[in-house]
Amino acid sequence: MNKISEKGALIKKVSGYQTAILDFFQDLFEKNIFDAVMLPMKIPSGDSFAWIMIKDKKILNNAQPLAPIMPVNAAKALKRYTRKGKGTLKIAALMKPCEIRATVELTKLNQVNLDDVTLFSYDCVGAIPMQDYIADPKTGDEKFEKMLSENNLNHNDVKPVCKICDNFSLSATDLHFGFNADKLFLVTNSKKGENLLQKLDLKAETDLQKWQKAIDEKKKKRVKKREETFKTVKTKVEGFSKLTETFADCIGCHNCQSSCPICYCRQCYFDTSAAKPNSDVVLMRAKDRGATSLPLDRIMFHTGRMAHMSLSCVSCGLCSDACPVNIPVAKIFSYVAAQTQETFEYSAGASVGDALPMKEYKLNELGELGEMVKSAEAQEGEHE
Ligand code: SF4
Ligand code: SF4
Repeated sequence: MNKISEKGALIKKVSGYQTAILDFFQDLFEKNIFDAVMLPMKIPSGDSFAWIMIKDKKILNNAQPLAPIMPVNAAKALKRYTRKGKGTLKIAALMKPCEIRATVELTKLNQVNLDDVTLFSYDCVGAIPMQDYIADPKTGDEKFEKMLSENNLNHNDVKPVCKICDNFSLSATDLHFGFNADKLFLVTNSKKGENLLQKLDLKAETDLQKWQKAIDEKKKKRVKKREETFKTVKTKVEGFSKLTETFADCIGCHNCQSSCPICYCRQCYFDTSAAKPNSDVVLMRAKDRGATSLPLDRIMFHTGRMAHMSLSCVSCGLCSDACPVNIPVAKIFSYVAAQTQETFEYSAGASVGDALPMKEYKLNELGELGEMVKSAEAQEGEHE
């Protein structure tokens, strides 16, 4: 998706951003532009949210487009709909920028099909940690609505990864809701988005410079904070003994893996019987070392997951939210992901057009390794 618009279309906003965005989607429904809308909605018990594919306008009235928490990454919800084919409905889906990035990664992995899906994102103030919200949803709602109305991107009550996220605004989406100085506007970011704006007869006439400047300034601060945080993470994870210490509390529940939108394998090796050693193996390890902790191979699970998916990690923080023993999994994975992605000159979720390095091998991508392969191939050629 290429950035097309330099101006945004002003959206009527009588009360808050929530209402204005909901009104916008209701209007799309009335005009029969989409068959269904995918938005978050509060569950009946009132202490969490679920992703809902809405076809009935009456139900749409109960949706809450900007949810304070992320119980499931929206990319994973969309994958459930399109992983076996593109479906039959024209869908509008609103997501946080990290969820858009995860959607982009899953699209490249053929697990999401965007042919009939129009993606909307918005300036994200962050999400409240799940455990905090569940403990007191009323206070969580109040805090979040205040953050939204003030467009406060520096709130202390959001998830640790949200505090260091520098991709909180326009992403590889079709359309993006920008918030600035109490104004709400829609920015097109693809041909699909531009066509929709035309259909709605919305004119992109609002200058985006002021908004862009504010976003850039906030980004700079986040980058600095991110670098500082990563320095601390480095001291806790580099080297086997530090890594073991950091994951000492891990109970091997694999919640971090099952909540991760990027853990894309249909069958995870670590959940197969091959990865679950029998009693002989456990006793052999205990004999070799004097004792062994159970469950076995926790570090192998985490390093295996890092090796597998850190190229595509979008720092959404779902893994930390899901961890019952409060290991800062998301910060650790974000730290590793930053290095892996820098090595491969890749940015997860930046664009559907960027090839996934693991799917597109280039001979010179790892310098020395490329040279070794070339020389091995040359030797093989000589022997033929
Ligand atoms: S590893 Fe954690 S932060 Fe990264 S994409 Fe998966 S759930 Fe999100
Ligand atoms: S969620 Fe936490 S306890 Fe469970 S496997 Fe992941 S790091 Fe370990």
